[in-house]
Amino acid sequence: KKEQLELLAAVEAITKDGCELHLAANISSAKEVESALKYGANGVGLFRTEFLYMDRSTFPSEEEQFEVYRQVAQQVGELGAVIRTLDIGGDKQLDYFALPDEDNPVLGYRAIRISLDRQELFQTQLTAILRASAFGRVKIMYPMISSVDEIRQANEVLHRAMADLDARGIAYDKDIPVGIMIEIPAAVIISDLLAEECDFFSIGTNDLVQYVLAVDRMNEQIAHMYHPFHPAILRMLRTTVEAAHRAGIPVSVCGEMAGDERSVPIWLELGVDHLSMSIQSLLKLKHRILNTTASDAKRTAQTCYQLKSSVEIERLLTEFAEPAC
Ligand code: PEP
Ligand code: MG
Repeated sequence: KKEQLELLAAVEAITKDGCELHLAANISSAKEVESALKYGANGVGLFRTEFLYMDRSTFPSEEEQFEVYRQVAQQVGELGAVIRTLDIGGDKQLDYFALPDEDNPVLGYRAIRISLDRQELFQTQLTAILRASAFGRVKIMYPMISSVDEIRQANEVLHRAMADLDARGIAYDKDIPVGIMIEIPAAVIISDLLAEECDFFSIGTNDLVQYVLAVDRMNEQIAHMYHPFHPAILRMLRTTVEAAHRAGIPVSVCGEMAGDERSVPIWLELGVDHLSMSIQSLLKLKHRILNTTASDAKRTAQTCYQLKSSVEIERLLTEFAEPAC
């Protein structure tokens, strides 16, 4: 069994008829990189850095952050790591940073909104990430982007961090790619405009589904309404992928949906460039891809785009993933 796993980890995720999907890992600490690579990940598609800020009593210093990002960069090497800037607020809190009591924290003071408000904290994080980019392929990703202005403001802080490193004579990748999470409906609708302002997109389906369907992702009572395969979501995915590709930038998916075996036909049909998922999902998804015929999968996805209900779409995709024997 262990040998089978190792064999599976070493092969590429290619369908029976030769379509490749690039699978990367979602991690939240440097120590997870080792198992991500062991399970055959093509790099790190999402490093959730908020965990570095949790379970402590002060903000982590530039030096502390650099040490963690450098470890990740060195371990992934040329495979690369996408480091997402602080995505705190909503469901994630810090003991030492009192976030306001809000009626709707998920619609409130969080993620890039905090970073742009507390630019000294943001610049410290960006400086640490830039320094790590001298040790392996690193990309920067901003969470919860809803406008072109937010990208421009974030990039201003990034340029200040770069100027500061230049003055200190410290090396970093001057062409570091800068991408954004697409997880707010407005970002999907203006994805053509956003694509001109950044180097890549990563679709965060966990939040996108929550915001598109107005269904709190943490609320058990309405969990049955949280439908990743809702026709509105499928349309949003298509809009985003088409905008990215028209602008010549790659697009990945990094929410839970990326690692769901039932989604494979959708990714093949849309032509997404990368999928990033929890380490536990990597081999299962690769196994599914190896046993899929892309031409059949694409036809199934096209049918999904004609169906009117989440239930019908989910049923068709489930049958495709687990054909009745
Ligand atoms: C997402 O929203 O899909 C995502 C990947 O980010 P997080 O789950 O950390 O909000
Ligand atoms: Mg999110």
